[in-house]
Amino acid sequence: SRPSTNPGAKLLKVATDPTFVPFEIQKADGKLEGFDIDLMNAIAASAGFTVQFEKLPFDGMISTLQAGKVDAAISGITITPERLKTISFSRPYFKAGLAIAVRENNQDIQNLNSLKGRKIAVQIGSTGADFAKTIPNAKISTFNSGPEFFQDLLNGNVDAVIGDAFATLYAINNGQLKGIKVVADLLTEEYYGIATSKSSPHMDAINNAIATVLSNGTYKQIYQKWFKA
Ligand code: GLN
Repeated sequence: SRPSTNPGAKLLKVATDPTFVPFEIQKADGKLEGFDIDLMNAIAASAGFTVQFEKLPFDGMISTLQAGKVDAAISGITITPERLKTISFSRPYFKAGLAIAVRENNQDIQNLNSLKGRKIAVQIGSTGADFAKTIPNAKISTFNSGPEFFQDLLNGNVDAVIGDAFATLYAINNGQLKGIKVVADLLTEEYYGIATSKSSPHMDAINNAIATVLSNGTYKQIYQKWFKA
């Protein structure tokens, strides 16, 4: 998409998967918006980068970073010990977690325990997919994006989905996901970070810029814009 105007600034190619509301939203004209997009633009403004977003499926993002085809990725990416083996993360910028979602009329899935042996849909390569693997006898279907696994749930092919709570709740509260509810408490506590390759020269600048936008009120403004808190 269109780089912001900052003549002479270092161009930073930033990967993102545009299917993760409200962190990444793709408008009809292809333009990106969302919490992560605003945050990345604010970080770039503070650090003196010009951002060029590259749309990529979530599952391919880590290998694309490792291959050096992009400079960074912002996409609601949870910082995990496993991922830290192959890529670097900035300081955390958002507290998140996984939740179970079911069809609105479902009464028998109330908690994690009731997921044993059930059909569950998840997004390929996500923390939700990793979590689902730990549920005894669950039959797991994998999809490339949230909109696809929610459709599978609505179609009645699976009993539940496991995905990021904030994204699911946002879509429900904004009328984008009808007929679906979130059950029980958060399954995990997770933190999103901006990812780069291990050899990136930009991580210090990114971390300093996150500290700046946290302390100068910009982060709060972006948070309120998307979460009305
Ligand atoms: N937070 C989840 C993960 O890192 C999902 C992120 C996403 O779908 N964009 O796996």
